[in-house]
Amino acid sequence: MSPPPSHGVDLVVRPTHRRAGEVHVIVGPMFAGKTTALLRRVMAEADTGRSVAIIKSSRDNRYATDAVVTHDGTKFPCWPLSDLLSFKHKFGADAYQKLDVIGIDEAQFFGDLYDFCCEAADLDGKTVVVAGLDGDYLRRSFGSVLNVIPLADTVTKLTARCEVCGNRAFFTLRKTGETQTELIGGANVYMPVCRQHYTNGQGVSVTKEATRIAFETHVVQNDLVLETAAAIV
Ligand SMILES: [Zn+2]
Repeated sequence: MSPPPSHGVDLVVRPTHRRAGEVHVIVGPMFAGKTTALLRRVMAEADTGRSVAIIKSSRDNRYATDAVVTHDGTKFPCWPLSDLLSFKHKFGADAYQKLDVIGIDEAQFFGDLYDFCCEAADLDGKTVVVAGLDGDYLRRSFGSVLNVIPLADTVTKLTARCEVCGNRAFFTLRKTGETQTELIGGANVYMPVCRQHYTNGQGVSVTKEATRIAFETHVVQNDLVLETAAAIV
């Protein structure tokens, strides 16, 4: 047999000593346990002896600046960054070389998510675990999280519990009247809801009632609200 015609592409397979990279995406509404799932996944990798690091947005400082903290209080040290492409430099080239797994929490805040995932997984052979909101409070694509789905090995959409009826919640409802897309807050500002209560709650009386409740509980018993939120994760 004659060899296949060449199309000018270098088809030589170079030997590689490290495993191929992977991208895993975890999405869902607020209070769906995305950070918990991210930590569980990264810790499972660490338990097998792989070297891990977690990055979170420096914009989200609700709980701690140098740790990822779930709504139920589990902590893991992390790198708070404003962009992802600076990670390699800040982490150190040698340390980065030895790194196997990179977790990214609150990924919707990173504008360079797509480029970072391409480079880390395709070129550097890293396993990248991305956790973030798929939609904002208006159910529009939030940041660039959905852009990395074509890069992903796996995509997981988690659900929360509807704060009104207890059914599975797919969406995040904003309780307050603010309209900017990025309004960082916890259970005082947002609640997970099912489709029915999202539809009922947007812009009608439920929102006003929720705003009143949110305001009162925020003033009187904010900690209790956060605990309640943790309980439904
Ligand atoms: Zn509901």
